[in-house]
Amino acid sequence: MKKLLIGLVLACAINAQAQVVEKIEPASWWIGMEMNTVEFMVHGKDISQLVAESTTLEVIKSEGLESPNYLFVTARVPVDAKVGDHTLVFRNTKGKKVGRLSVALGLRADGSASRKGFSSADFIYLITPDRFRNGDASNDQVKGMLEGPNREFIGGRHGGDLAGIIESLDYFEKMGISSLWLNPVLENNMETYSYHGYAMTDLYNVDPRYGTNEQYKELADKAKEKGIGIIMDQVANHIGSLHPWMSDLPSEDWVNQWPEFTQTNHMKVSRFDPHAAEVDRKQFTDGWFVETMPDLNQRNEKLARYLIQNSIWWVEYLGLHGIRMDTWSYPDKQFLADWTKAILDEYPNFNIVGEEWVSDPSLISYWQAGTNKMDDYTSYLPSVMDFLLQSALIEGLNGESGWRSSMTKIYESLANDYMYSDVNNIMIFPDNHDMSRIYTQLNEDFDKWKMAMTLFFTTRGTLQFYYGTEILMSNPGTEDHGVIRSDFPGGWEGDAVNAFTGEGLTAQQKEAQEYIRTLAHLRKKSCALNSGELLHFIPQEEVYVYFRTFEQENIMVLANRNKEGKTIDLARFSQGLKGATSGENLITEEKVDLSRGTIEVGPMETLILWVK
Ligand code: CA
Repeated sequence: MKKLLIGLVLACAINAQAQVVEKIEPASWWIGMEMNTVEFMVHGKDISQLVAESTTLEVIKSEGLESPNYLFVTARVPVDAKVGDHTLVFRNTKGKKVGRLSVALGLRADGSASRKGFSSADFIYLITPDRFRNGDASNDQVKGMLEGPNREFIGGRHGGDLAGIIESLDYFEKMGISSLWLNPVLENNMETYSYHGYAMTDLYNVDPRYGTNEQYKELADKAKEKGIGIIMDQVANHIGSLHPWMSDLPSEDWVNQWPEFTQTNHMKVSRFDPHAAEVDRKQFTDGWFVETMPDLNQRNEKLARYLIQNSIWWVEYLGLHGIRMDTWSYPDKQFLADWTKAILDEYPNFNIVGEEWVSDPSLISYWQAGTNKMDDYTSYLPSVMDFLLQSALIEGLNGESGWRSSMTKIYESLANDYMYSDVNNIMIFPDNHDMSRIYTQLNEDFDKWKMAMTLFFTTRGTLQFYYGTEILMSNPGTEDHGVIRSDFPGGWEGDAVNAFTGEGLTAQQKEAQEYIRTLAHLRKKSCALNSGELLHFIPQEEVYVYFRTFEQENIMVLANRNKEGKTIDLARFSQGLKGATSGENLITEEKVDLSRGTIEVGPMETLILWVK
């Protein structure tokens, strides 16, 4: 008996020394992908010397890096592979089998490769998931997750989740929304401020406080039934400091290392500056965003491969129609090209928008694919974000009239379009999760708000809209992100105000919501508004006039930023009018006579006329 016990103890001791394969990423793939060779990242104890083999997958190589606890297995998925689990067997240097893991192979959805990405015909609704709707109170607190719910704390987790977003699909449909962009919902197991989602600790799994991967898929499927696509917010620049990688880096160069915490200088122009010092360029790309977000080094080929496969995995798994890439210009520049090209090789009609937060159009347009550049860099990014138009529109509406109209700011902003290869594939937005609510930016002036909305819904570009802007959500007296991202009223049981039903909204909020709904449906059905040519005229006396034209559909927009009504002489606009003698006001459906050569525009009024 004693001998047997010793034997057991010894066996355990040997076992503790043994190599253990624990986890594989990705754990699934699809048959018939353009990327049919996958580099699987295997994690476990002391496994970097193991060799993988399979009877059904073609294993090409098994490689370790510096850490003994990772193994990278490159394997080809045969076109005639069977759907289901495929086994990888791992052997040690003596040829002994020490473990096995399986990879699930699935069939691609019909038309997966040719899927069409979001476009200027879409109305994109941006949601901060923690703050929109709590559809499942049972996931507010999850064992093992470091931060629990605290709705009293503006920077805390409030409990919103995927279940709440699924419950809101009728609302989105009613509002004319055709695309959802959620701030990241992948695991952010950080101690504080985890609700924003940009400090990921697992790139393959939804944070359990938002739900599950299956629920994310359920959202995508149910949304698709209503004609609503999903844009996924992805981050290749950094991870959360509590990502398991940080306690066991695959290699020292997996993240950009500094002797002490060094922040990026955010000097985006240093990438282009011919006089820039190397030290400044390096700090821009390799400096960290904040201490809790280690900066990934995409020059490491295995990391780059991991990130590219991860992005493609989510597109295929969820059936996405777009990706929004966070902090666009911060990662390695060649990686950005490789990443985008790989996704577009897989899905040629897909759309990806990069967040390049600058107001200099030459820096934004540089990244749009097909734009002429001064250097030999090839960017594949289809869509960029128009931060310039956002600020120009605010300045145009808030500014003082001087020797020229303040509204000229908007005109000048759009005049920069000569720098872009595809002006309709530029994302425009009244506000987003990182800036003051537009109602606040416009000093809570409802007339200006309505004018701003009308301009955004009728000018060129792909419109993105932040949740709550339709009910005038604001952040008076503070720039606190937690306030900007306040809870959407009605998303929590017991809320006194309910924006889904309209209960408790003020008359003005109801008017605002109805106005957005009207504009959204108008834009959706009008090719001129959602993808037509733009012809605009230099604003005079704070009146900005432009036309959107698509084939026979010709729409004239007149914005009068004056406290008094104006009689506008139409002679100057003959190029746009093309001889039109009448118009239909698309908001009120009233007929407008243009044959007298003038038109009346009320104080702070914006007219949208279909002219014939
Ligand atoms: Ca919840």
